[in-house]
Order: sequence, then C-alpha cells, then structure tokens
Amino acid sequence: GSGEYDYDLLIIGCGVGGHGAALHAVECGLKVAIVEGHDIGGTCVNRGCVPSKALLAASNEVRKLRNEHHQKTLGIQLDAASVSFDRQAIADHAINLANTVQGNLQRSLESLGVTILKGQAKLTGAHTISYGLPGRVDVGGTATARDIIIATGSVPFVPGGIEVDGKTVFTSDHALKMEWLPNWIAIIGSGYIGLEFSDVYTALGSEVTFVEAMPNIMPGFDKEIAKLAQRLLIQGRPIDYHTNVIASKVTPGVPGVKPVRIELTDFTTKEVVDELEVDACLVATGRAPYTNGLNLGSMGVSTDRRGFVPVNDKMEVLDSSGKVVPHLYCIGDANGKYMLAHAASAQGISVVECISGRERKVNHLAVPAACFTHPEVSFVGLTEDAAREKAEKEGWAAKLGVAKTYYKANSKSLAELESDGMAKLMYRKDTGEILGVHMIGLHSADNIHEFSNAMNMGLTLRDLKFNVHAHPTVAEVNEELIRHAQLENTAAV
Ligand code: FAD
Repeated sequence: GSGEYDYDLLIIGCGVGGHGAALHAVECGLKVAIVEGHDIGGTCVNRGCVPSKALLAASNEVRKLRNEHHQKTLGIQLDAASVSFDRQAIADHAINLANTVQGNLQRSLESLGVTILKGQAKLTGAHTISYGLPGRVDVGGTATARDIIIATGSVPFVPGGIEVDGKTVFTSDHALKMEWLPNWIAIIGSGYIGLEFSDVYTALGSEVTFVEAMPNIMPGFDKEIAKLAQRLLIQGRPIDYHTNVIASKVTPGVPGVKPVRIELTDFTTKEVVDELEVDACLVATGRAPYTNGLNLGSMGVSTDRRGFVPVNDKMEVLDSSGKVVPHLYCIGDANGKYMLAHAASAQGISVVECISGRERKVNHLAVPAACFTHPEVSFVGLTEDAAREKAEKEGWAAKLGVAKTYYKANSKSLAELESDGMAKLMYRKDTGEILGVHMIGLHSADNIHEFSNAMNMGLTLRDLKFNVHAHPTVAEVNEELIRHAQLENTAAV
C-alpha cells in the first residue's frame, strides 16, 4: 500500500525503460502510475528499434531477390533487374509494426492495472509531479508517489552547421517514414544507426556516402570486426566513405531540383577539404538526452556537460554536490550509461528491485549490443584493444587469450548461403574468465546471448564447455569458439 501517497511508484516517460519498470513493479506488488507526453512505447517502438527492424527485414527480402549469385547457385530463374517493389508498402510495414507493438504495450500496462497518465510531467517536489500539455500544466493534474523514476529518453542529436528541413536533410525520426527514396544519400556518422540505414538504402537501390569524423568507419567496434564489416557491409555495395572529416555545413535542397550541399572539413586541420552534392542527407550523429521541462533544477540536480542526468550505479539521481536525491531515479537514454533499449529496461527492473528491498545492479559489461545489418554485428564486453589495455594495466598481459573462428565452417550458415563472418573471444588463460565476445555473421544478434548470459552469471569457459548445441545451428559457432580457446590453452577450458 502507498499510504500517504497516490502511488508507490511514478514513472515519467513510457519508453521501453519506463514500460519495463512499470511491469516489474506491478509484479512486485507496487501501485504504479506512468506519465507519457507523446506515444506509448517511446523512441524504440515508434521511432527506433522496432520500425527500423521492419525496414531492414523488408529491404533484405529485396536484396535477396536481386542477388544474382544466389539465383545462379540455386538455379532460380528470375531477372534480378526486373525485381520491383512498392516503397509505400515497405513504409507501411514499419508503421503497422510500430502500431501493433504500441498496442501490445498499452494492453499489457492496462491489464496489469498500471495507471497511464497523459501529459508532459514536471517535478514539483520530492514526491510530487504535475502533468499536462506542454506549457499548460493546468490541463492535467498532479500526482504523488513514494518513489519517482525519470525515464524520459533521448532525441536525435544534430551538430551545429547542419540545417535539418525534414525533407532532404533529416534524422532517423524522419528516415523511418520512408517518404521517398533518394538516388544518392549521404549518411553523417557510421555508428549503428547510420550502418543500419545504409543496409536498407543500398538494398533498395540507393547509393550511400558515409561522412565519418573518426579515422575509421565504425568507431567503437572491435577493430578486427570493423575491418571485416567494412568488407561485408561496404565493399561490394554502392557505398563510399570519407573518414577523418566532419560535415561542417549542410544545406537542404529540393528533390529533383536542387542538391543538398555538404561542406567537408578535415577533422585534424579544420580546413574545408571538399564539398558533396547529394539528393539527401541522413544525420546519424548520435542521440541527446531529453530532460526538457522536467524542472530538475528545483531538486538541486544539474545535468552533465552533455545533458545526461547524473546517477550512481543504482541509478539513484545525484544532486550537483554528488549526493543521492532520495527516492529519485533515472534510467535509460536520459542517464547515458548505455543507450540501448534492453539496457533501459534492465536498469528499470533493477531500480524496482532496489526499492522493493532487494539490491540489484545492472552489470553493463554483460549487456549485449547489436547492429542489425545483414550480416548482423554483435558484441558483449570488452574489445580486443580494451581487453589488452586492461590486462596490461593490471599486470596479466601474458594471460590474455584471443580465440577466433569463422562462419565458413558452420553448416547452417553454409546451407543458407550466408557463410561470411567471424567470431572472436577474449578470455583469461588462467581462469577461463570471459572478457568479451564480438561477432559478425548470420543471426549473430541472437547468438551473442550465450556469452552475455554467461558473463552476467559469472560463468567461465570451463562452465560453457559441455553445453550442447542443436545441430545444425549458428549457435555451433559458439562451441567452435570455445574449442579454439581450448586448443590454444587447455588450462582455461
Ligand atoms: P525513450 O524510448 O526515448 O522513451 C522516453 C519517453 O518519455 C518518450 O515516449 C517521451 O515522449 C517520454 N517523455 C519525455 N519527457 C517526458 C515528460 N516530461 N513527461 C512525460 N513523458 C515524457 N536500441 C536497441 O536496443 N536495439 C535497437 O535495435 C535499436 N535501434 C534503434 C534504431 C533507431 C533508429 C534509434 C533512433 C534508436 C534505436 N535504439 C535501439 C535505441 C533505443 O531506441 C533507445 O535506447 C531506447 O528507446 C531508450 O529507451 P528509454 O525508455 O530510455 O527512452
């Protein structure tokens, strides 16, 4: 029972983070309300994970039908050049999927008795919020709760000098609607969002030019995996790229009349080095936390340099002197700890565990991540470089093991004519501890879970050694990976 408050728990924002926290809280017997200013499901369901995966699946069907190598191998009689598709049907698939998932989330909340409050919320006291239309808080109401979770998510980040018109220069919010297909599109940023869109666009016949500020495509990924990704996802597709440059100025155009102009500035020398003229430009330069109108200042909280809400490892919000603000938590993209959907809900669940008296922290090092290109790129834990750095710092560099295996020996991948790929494992030779696993290959986003689960539970390679995998499956790549570690070093396995 909530006693002096309307609710035990009040959650601001109904993205995947807020939704996951709400469901778990009800299961723990708490009385819960969730406030949402826009759409149930937030970014992930409406403008992120869900519609993007629909576009990736749909466009990959087109890519497969146009794959002359597959057709020849299988003797399929089809004129690749004559395969056509309806752009609107593909766009509708994404919109319909988002609507279906949104409906599912809403029903799950309602059926479990979570109160859904409609409106933008604002903190007005230690246990109080008011909510209503933006700028008209009077339209909604107020609510009180013992504990409050901020789960307000993020919005696309657009660097200065880039003018977004939502037609020829746009972010993922707009690209997901697939209103038209440019012949040539520049994608600023080669992180996972940019890469996924390049997979969609090239499958549907567009040419792509990446503009990347870092010296390499796919910064942040394991270098060796990024190198293979470059061969599998970029070469052999109509994609070129400029690295070590920033798009310092982007001016919208008019489709079919005036091109989009992109000024490229050298990242190091800061000199203008080139100019591109393209049909469209997708700005995929990351996401910025969204905390507008929350009134955090009234709680003595200031966001960090990049706008994230400061939290400790229990997701408790910290005030500007670094002290915990009692009963106030922040999860998901708004705290910037790990900007992925499943990390947001994992954090939400751990907060609910904590307020239910069972302390629980998310082990972010065991949270998997994936880029859903074809093939998928997935990882958990440290890259080889990061593992080496850690080992050297801690004085056990000689005990760092790196095992590798390739998909070309995997029967399932061969049967599906998708046998390009590799997996690598970083581990401790003396203890068999798993430090990180990185994969590029068929269904690797599903396959990574054996290792993320193991890391989450503190299992070693020795524990995994006798796992039995169904044959033939892509999961046998994992078995192979462990076998390679064993060949290299029997003590670990
Ligand atoms: P959000 O989902 O952003 O939800 C926040 C909610 O809070 C919103 O609904 C917002 O309206 C509401 N809100 C904000 N302020 C207030 C307020 N004051 N009062 C009331 N309501 C408020 N992640 C993955 O794990 N896998 C993927 O495949 C993946 N693909 C992606 C593809 C794209 C194109 C994009 C853009 C993102 C993708 N992500 C993916 C990232 C994922 O969408 C986010 O990490 C996730 O949505 C974060 O969840 P959240 O609950 O923190 O916030």
